Amino acid sequence: MPRKRALTLRCPICKKPVKSADPDSPFCSDRCRLLDLGKWASGEYVVPSPLTDADEAIQRDRLDDADGDGKP
Ligand SMILES: [Zn+2]
Repeated sequence: MPRKRALTLRCPICKKPVKSADPDSPFCSDRCRLLDLGKWASGEYVVPSPLTDADEAIQRDRLDDADGDGKP
């Protein structure tokens, strides 16, 4: 058994091998770390989205019919 674990990670951005002792781990470099942050910011991952125009229109329709008599 080796005394030290030679754990090698792979950068999730560019798939280059990264040493687990690397300060940028699990990224190979600061650049890839920033790219990963950029993915989150640009919505490539699923994030709660702000209200869209369509949602707003639906809410307005509900308010228009708030009196419930079916007439505008
Ligand atoms: Zn990388």
